[in-house]
Amino acid sequence: MILMSLLKGKCPQCEKNDIFKSKGNLFKLQIPEMHDNCQTCNFKFEKEPGFFFGAMFVSYAVTAAEFIAAYIISHFIFGLSLLASFLTVVALSIVLSAFNFRLSRSIWIYLFAGSKVKA
Ligand SMILES: [Zn+2]
Repeated sequence: MILMSLLKGKCPQCEKNDIFKSKGNLFKLQIPEMHDNCQTCNFKFEKEPGFFFGAMFVSYAVTAAEFIAAYIISHFIFGLSLLASFLTVVALSIVLSAFNFRLSRSIWIYLFAGSKVKA
């Protein structure tokens, strides 16, 4: 299923190989590393120089949705104060940074994978 492949960071064309070499490590301050091409079907992930510039806008939307959800849950459901809710959102932004990086690039790649993607 295409949504599961996207969430797992698989190639949009063959859905077999991973887009990312490494998942990134928060404690070593490493960002996730990508493969240039899929090792099974040779799908090129970075279509042109600066292709992933647009993934920033996806990242913005993804993080905004997560932070609003985290704020609503911590403030209105758990009844935390405004400051505690804010600190929860800050902590979440740090913990999820590598995950959001991978997710936003995967979404961006899938958006432009074109008609080769099977439904
Ligand atoms: Zn592939």
